[in-house]
Amino acid sequence: MAENARNVVIIGSGPAGLTAAVYTSRASLEPVVVHGNEPGGQLMITTDVENFPGFPEGILGPELMNLMTRQAERFGTEFLTDRVEAVELGAQPFEVATDGGRALRAKTLIVASGASTRWLGLESEAKYRGRGVSSCATCDGAFFKGRELIVVGGGDSALEEALFLTRFASKVTVVHRRDRLRASKIMQDRAFKNDKIDFVWDSEVREILGDGKRVTGVRLSNKKTKETTEVSCGGVFVAVGHAPNTDIFKGQLEMDAKGYLVTRPDSTATNVEGVYACGDVQDHVFRQAVTAAGTGCMAAIEAERYLEAKEAQQGA
Ligand code: NDP
Repeated sequence: MAENARNVVIIGSGPAGLTAAVYTSRASLEPVVVHGNEPGGQLMITTDVENFPGFPEGILGPELMNLMTRQAERFGTEFLTDRVEAVELGAQPFEVATDGGRALRAKTLIVASGASTRWLGLESEAKYRGRGVSSCATCDGAFFKGRELIVVGGGDSALEEALFLTRFASKVTVVHRRDRLRASKIMQDRAFKNDKIDFVWDSEVREILGDGKRVTGVRLSNKKTKETTEVSCGGVFVAVGHAPNTDIFKGQLEMDAKGYLVTRPDSTATNVEGVYACGDVQDHVFRQAVTAAGTGCMAAIEAERYLEAKEAQQGA
């Protein structure tokens, strides 16, 4: 039997989704948040969050997400641990099908499914994640004061991470798999000018080395010479790109060339009326917890106003 249409279904439970949940539940819209298999989003893989306003001593990423979840629960948000498998946005109410066999119907949909870090896929990388392996210099850079660091990647993200890390590190070595960077000219110029940044070209990280507790170095392989070398370092920042979690919206929601959802300027509205997108799924520029929370708030207010206007229309 089909369920009654919900006012608001929120896909994703990072800072964007949970902020949308706090606002819509507080507005008595009884939202349901569909978690997916990465509840809490990317903050669950960071350690201390020192730049989320309101926590002068910093707060652990998972703890911050736990607090946001409790705040959303306080006003009656319902949470489903299912993963969304398919959506049907062609007619209202929208349909949201989950891997738990649920078929939710939604008057409005808030997409906060985020982006996932691309990793190298090494076993040793997974082992040392959070213990010297990171994908976020803004989050973790300050823990590496005076250390030598490796950044993997050759795009703008890699150079941005490398430049940021020079504030803390004694030296940053960018390891790139080709002999030319993909990054923009301006970022290349900045990186080449920085005395603390070195490059290792044509090389792949084959293994992250460690003492069981912390990263101690990397094993590199030169793709041209086939030579293998070991470089010692205190941390490895992987910056080989992010991928927005938008596969299930293909053909229904407008996306840019990289798969990020397109929203109207100064709004979280997508090309489908009643569907809003917030957080990293529509933002590859700022990618901060606080900006995600900000757009989550915008999406909630826009969904609320949309429902109000519709109700007024139907009552008229
Ligand atoms: P990109 O896709 O631009 O770059 C990814 C980099 O990682 C490439 O150099 C790629 O190598 C390398 N790479 C990919 N997979 C692997 C792998 N398995 N092993 C080793 N290396 C790998 O992603 P970014 O996150 O850098 O940038 C995404 C978008 O965001 C871009 O449009 C960028 O311009 C933008 N951006 C802009 C910034 C700014 O202007 N300040 C800051 C950050 C991002 P290869 O080159 O060989 O493909």
